Amino acid sequence: MRDSARAEDLLTWYDRHARELPWRVSPAAHAAGVRPDPYRVWMSEIMLQQTTVAAVKSYFETFTSRWPTVSDLAAAEDADVMAAWAGLGYYARARNLLKCARVVADQHGGVFPQNLEGLRALPGVGPYTAAAVAAIAFDLPETVVDGNVERVMARLHDEHMPLPQSKPVLTEYAAALTPQQRPGDYAQAVMDLGATICTPRNPACGLCPWRTACAAWDHGTQAELPKKAPKKRKPTRHGIAYLVKRVDGAWLLERRPDSGLLGGMLGWPGSDWGEEAPADVPPIRAEWKTLNAEARHTFTHFHLRLTVKTALVPMERQPERGAFVEAEVFDPDDLPTVMRKAFALTSG
Ligand code: SF4
Repeated sequence: MRDSARAEDLLTWYDRHARELPWRVSPAAHAAGVRPDPYRVWMSEIMLQQTTVAAVKSYFETFTSRWPTVSDLAAAEDADVMAAWAGLGYYARARNLLKCARVVADQHGGVFPQNLEGLRALPGVGPYTAAAVAAIAFDLPETVVDGNVERVMARLHDEHMPLPQSKPVLTEYAAALTPQQRPGDYAQAVMDLGATICTPRNPACGLCPWRTACAAWDHGTQAELPKKAPKKRKPTRHGIAYLVKRVDGAWLLERRPDSGLLGGMLGWPGSDWGEEAPADVPPIRAEWKTLNAEARHTFTHFHLRLTVKTALVPMERQPERGAFVEAEVFDPDDLPTVMRKAFALTSG
């Protein structure tokens, strides 16, 4: 089958089965002349990196109603944006989101660049995000390859070379299929196919518009693909979190340095995280109680186990690090997930 015929088949399927997503212009609206807002497309793509559609939806709605334009976001307070992002993870994205909004507002007059090179030059916009925004927001025939697309291409071509080694080959397959007509709809159609039909487990081949063109379907190998190089085992790191309450109900919090994990986020003062037992570095003089349970969290490259120490301190006691946040201002939802887990243990 010709590549252009495959693209047409997929677009016909997309016209009937496109997912409704808060950042998406439906294929019918797109055909009627509605153009996607590049700000919303960019925001959704940044949020969706490493995160599921289900987890992103409410954050996307909060962000776009609170900061409806890129200039609104550029003018926001850093702390407000970091607090609104809390719980979504991969916090470098939130810092880059702000940096990028400010570059677009200050250097591009609040208008996103309309080509791949211009988008690529923005902070936090890598090759994938630039291609996705170029295709979806500006209907440019750029090749958009995420995990969904890699899986679909590996199956369509019965490609058994393991990821990540196979990435360039899968990208070539995807590029050959990208049409000149409706490339934005096409990019979203492949993502939808991967998310709803050609799923990692039990792909619904019977419903697939590409079944007759699919080499894995033909050979019965779809369940084995894509092949992946074996993952390295994640190490476990250990640390201490100090949860200090003042007698008036205020909590001692510390903003983490901008660089590094959870950078720029508010959290509990703590020790370094390492594979050895952590050094005890209490942020204030107090009588400490160690909780029986640990806060456990898994990051991309390691598992973390946090020992949680708590203390109640008098009004006049001054911390060596961090600052007290009044009880009426403190909201555990402003904290990253691992810090919320530590807090949850104090009420157990
Ligand atoms: S036929 Fe099955 S394996 Fe092939 S692309 Fe469609 S859903 Fe995926």
